[in-house]
Amino acid sequence: MTARQVTDDDRRYVFHSWSAQDHISPVPVAGAEGSTFWDYEGNRYLDFSSQLVNSNLGHGHPRLISAIGDQAARLAYAAPSFAVDVRSEAARMIVERAPEGMAKVFFTNGGAEANENAVRMAKLFTGRHKVLSTYRSYHGATTGAISLTGEPRRWPSEPGLPGAVHFFGPYPYRSAFSATSAEEESERALRHLDEVVTLEGPHTVAAIVLETVVGTNGVLVPPPGYLRGVRELCTRHGIQLICDEVMVGFGRVGHWFACQAWDVRPDLITFAKGVNSGYVPLGGVIISAEVAGFFGDRAYPGGLTYSGHPLACAVAVEHMKVLEEERILPRVRALGERLATRLAEIAQRHPSVGEVRGMGLMWAIELVRDRETREPLVPYNAAGQDSEPMTRVAAACREGGVWPFTHFNRLHVAPPLIIEDDELDRGLAVYDAALKIADEYATG
Ligand code: PLP
Repeated sequence: MTARQVTDDDRRYVFHSWSAQDHISPVPVAGAEGSTFWDYEGNRYLDFSSQLVNSNLGHGHPRLISAIGDQAARLAYAAPSFAVDVRSEAARMIVERAPEGMAKVFFTNGGAEANENAVRMAKLFTGRHKVLSTYRSYHGATTGAISLTGEPRRWPSEPGLPGAVHFFGPYPYRSAFSATSAEEESERALRHLDEVVTLEGPHTVAAIVLETVVGTNGVLVPPPGYLRGVRELCTRHGIQLICDEVMVGFGRVGHWFACQAWDVRPDLITFAKGVNSGYVPLGGVIISAEVAGFFGDRAYPGGLTYSGHPLACAVAVEHMKVLEEERILPRVRALGERLATRLAEIAQRHPSVGEVRGMGLMWAIELVRDRETREPLVPYNAAGQDSEPMTRVAAACREGGVWPFTHFNRLHVAPPLIIEDDELDRGLAVYDAALKIADEYATG
């Protein structure tokens, strides 16, 4: 097929996510390998967004491809009610790598369904109906998950799930609590949450859902003591702690699960994306022994035709083996330190950079017009003309051969975990050059 045919059929027949259908022009992707993909004209892009922060082992990984082929030849599909070797193996391997006390895995096709099911489990387990989640979060686009989401993508779907309540999580750079240090932010954010729980009625709250490290909505790494504090609050009130690790699980921030960086054990962990780099759709809920036991003698009222799809599970098994054998997690932690240094250098050169923050291979460069006032480079949820500065920065990245991840007034760095040192440096050099455009708007 030519680029023209692909684009023509796409424009004519494909209905795209989150878009006004007549206002988009999707790049026709012709192929991809490792951290790079290319179009039909031969333009190559170093993928600094890992597609949707899920191509963790990059494109075309031979072992993942073989895992699909071998499994397809052996058993492409069996209904979820059967015991299937790769499904059992994937579940066992996931539980073995999760925090102690986690016992079973319920498989889904992706992240939103994982969150839907985690919430269902929490509600049934506690006999309560409210679910608290943070502003500045994304949890998926199905009815429940979008209701939990704390950003503008929720608005058109309102009114949402009854009992969904939002609160402020920590965000030291733009503190909702006028905190002046990370410690103060942690303490005040916990006090705020405690008050929200009190005012909502603790006996009505089934779950608190958190992105362990907030991804798309800012790369917000929880300040010291915060996660532990939320864990304690949940335990005190019999509330289920659900950590949404759809974006950060399976190595993105240098740990199997981000909650392990703070030694916190949630009651339910949701995952998807990085579990198998999206070679075949897969997500799921990792369930504590208590919750799994609760459904020991009462039926769990939920299921999916493709729960634990053998092809997806076969890739997940191989994916975990590769992460381990190629020592990817320690490498991500080392690259995280390299990025911290490089991004700090870049920040110094550009008056438009307000803050850089992140962990492992997930970083945000927050752009401002004025470092003093911290006025964002573009307004919250900017569209059209208002978003022009960010549109220009992103275009400059693409012209430089790097596919960026942008959200509101931020440029994110989230390449595949297998990115080579020289590729990372090349991508950062392109970001560095593109930031000169943002500097044109900086007045502070
Ligand atoms: N949770 C988080 C933190 C996410 O980043 C996403 C997707 O970006 C989801 C949930 C939803 O996952 P999916 O798109 O697979 O339904």
